[in-house]
Amino acid sequence: MTREELAFEYSELLAEYEQIKAEGLSLDMSRGKPCKEQLDLSDGILTVIKSGDECVNNFGTDMRNYGLPIGVPAARKLFAELCGVEFDNVFLGGNASLELMYDTIARAELFGVAPDTTPWCKCDKVKFLCPAPGYDRHFRICEVFGIEMIPVEMREDGPDMDTIERLVAEDESIKGIWCVPKHSNPTGTIYSDEVVRRFAALKPAAKDFRIFWDNAYMVHDLYDEVPELLNIFSLTQGTENEDLVYMFTSTSKITYAGSGISAFITSDNNMKYALKHIGAQIISYDKLNQFRHAVFFKDADGIRAHMKKHAELLRPRFEAVLDAFEQELAGREMATWTKPTGGYFISLDLCVGSAKRVYELCLDAGMKLTEAGSTFPYGNDPKDANLRIAPSYPPLHELKQAAQVLCLCVRLATMEKLLTQSGFFNSISKISLKLIQDAE
Ligand code: PLP
Repeated sequence: MTREELAFEYSELLAEYEQIKAEGLSLDMSRGKPCKEQLDLSDGILTVIKSGDECVNNFGTDMRNYGLPIGVPAARKLFAELCGVEFDNVFLGGNASLELMYDTIARAELFGVAPDTTPWCKCDKVKFLCPAPGYDRHFRICEVFGIEMIPVEMREDGPDMDTIERLVAEDESIKGIWCVPKHSNPTGTIYSDEVVRRFAALKPAAKDFRIFWDNAYMVHDLYDEVPELLNIFSLTQGTENEDLVYMFTSTSKITYAGSGISAFITSDNNMKYALKHIGAQIISYDKLNQFRHAVFFKDADGIRAHMKKHAELLRPRFEAVLDAFEQELAGREMATWTKPTGGYFISLDLCVGSAKRVYELCLDAGMKLTEAGSTFPYGNDPKDANLRIAPSYPPLHELKQAAQVLCLCVRLATMEKLLTQSGFFNSISKISLKLIQDAE
């Protein structure tokens, strides 16, 4: 485009934008929350147990009472089956896997990761590798514990393994890495078999290095044919890396995001050590909720069938946003985006230096997005280019509108940038100045 063509298109987009602003919209694509219809799918949980007598399991344990700090056996069995791990390696927590991750780091800071290791708080420096773009709440945990974060580039098949292997082998202060191996937040990446194998075979300099394998989206496929994730836990068991992996998951995006159940899966050694400390912290988590989840689903196939119903609700939402991107942004060299086969997010990459501006334009037009920068450690996206789009929550008609507003803001911000680079705004202000001077 010539500068004049750019300026013409810019003025048209600006007029459209002002019109939308005047509508006083209230749209939200900021957080990955299930929509109401998704929550409704699990309402059987509310009535699956009808009396106190039904709260007693086959071994005579009453779920309403203290006991079973490691979790309800039927629910542990469910997760063991779903994750392809041994029953003994499954611990069940409360309603949030994030709490289990936070607590695992807190224990490592206070007591070390095993009996013969130094508490991280006594180490001069503790660093974590952070594949980015990644999950902001992982980064926040590191921040509150003063753990230094090193971003690692996310690629199509997972994080850059050459860099990870090199860094963990040469730096003993690197104690951990965050991974969301299936339908990563926000890119939707599924780690390839090679990436998972390389993780399982890592040779870290720090013997207290751990992989934080957050499998939050393990059964959250949008389509029938989605590649399987290799089981890192089986790959490491019985090897010298047996204690390398802390795996986390939950039913937050399966049943209720505020009232699901969470799981921590790890080796026999790690489990024994964690239980020693957890045993001092709590007598038992909410067993009644764990129990009714197990009764509601019966087995792993019950969960898989349930997730197909979620996919029916989520697929049109993802496709509405992707269709809008295709229609409004494709071929304009303004943006690229991921096309996830599951999970909760789409990752949108804009021209360098545009993400904050698009975020602001959207906000001014009445639409909330996850803040620009938040997909990177310290909220610092070095290219200021990435935005995380969450299509799950708004009703479809609102989502379609939101996607249009977003595309408009992307186009507007890109035009603004091009016109600024071409010196157009400077000449405009010079002309305005001249006009004012002339008038005076
Ligand atoms: N892990 C990832 C990757 C997530 O995207 C989320 C929520 O968006 C969570 C964990 C939070 O899980 P929970 O509700 O079990 O704490």
